[in-house]
Amino acid sequence: MLQLSLFDPNPAPARPRTQGTADVIYADSSAILARPTGRLADLDFVINPYQGCTFACTYCYAAFFVAEEEQRERWGQWVRVKTNAIAKLRNSRQNLHGKTVLMSSATDPYQPIEARLELTRSLLPILAQRGARLAVLSRSPLVTRDIDLFETFEHLNITMSITTDSDEVRKLFEPQCASIDRRFEAISRLSREGFKTRINVSPLLPLNDAGAFAERILETGVSRVHINTFHEASGPFASGTRQPALKIAREMGWTEGRREQVLAELRGYLNQGGRQLAA
Ligand code: SF4
Repeated sequence: MLQLSLFDPNPAPARPRTQGTADVIYADSSAILARPTGRLADLDFVINPYQGCTFACTYCYAAFFVAEEEQRERWGQWVRVKTNAIAKLRNSRQNLHGKTVLMSSATDPYQPIEARLELTRSLLPILAQRGARLAVLSRSPLVTRDIDLFETFEHLNITMSITTDSDEVRKLFEPQCASIDRRFEAISRLSREGFKTRINVSPLLPLNDAGAFAERILETGVSRVHINTFHEASGPFASGTRQPALKIAREMGWTEGRREQVLAELRGYLNQGGRQLAA
């Protein structure tokens, strides 16, 4: 568990350090709980312990929300640790009882640095004590580390993002993320342990075999699957799929027509026999 004294009350240096090839910036944040808008507006709060994400997915729309152009360009090569996150959450006067909190919307709360810092882990007991209904969203098998704390929530669901059945495709679009096998193992384990689980196929990437992928998803025991395709931004400040992913997609012939066709196919397999598993 992260020692509070590391982050609170003494501010940590704002100078970047490096972890692997990524810059790690330690800085206070003006807020830790945010009111979601747009597609997430039906949630009460979102919580992002970090800004930036070293999983570096080529399609990540979160890069569009970063103010500095240089950091948008270098998305995936830096992460900002919100040094006052624990204190901010602890001191927040928001009533979280029965409120839905998503962790996270613009970063991965279980990205590599979390293994060492345990910042996400340190926020969990506060959220549980305050009676929040927690929705965890991650691409990382590290999420299973916190099973002991997840058990303390009355309401909790965990979503694992798995975007393709091909590790070759995965390495092109999300090279820093864990293998498909490890993600399937993690979400299957969470289902077996009795948690409410979901899979996010978002964005849907090229598949080897939609039927076999659907079977594998069904075997995990998840109660819901959300499938989404690339969002193509329509203006200079619109959020959407980043250019590196669109370039790879073009080179692979992953056209809008093909994406819609595979999405319908996968959804069909998942909803077969009146299951209605996939939205
Ligand atoms: S894991 Fe999520 S937040 Fe991180 S780069 Fe990938 S899509 Fe973006």
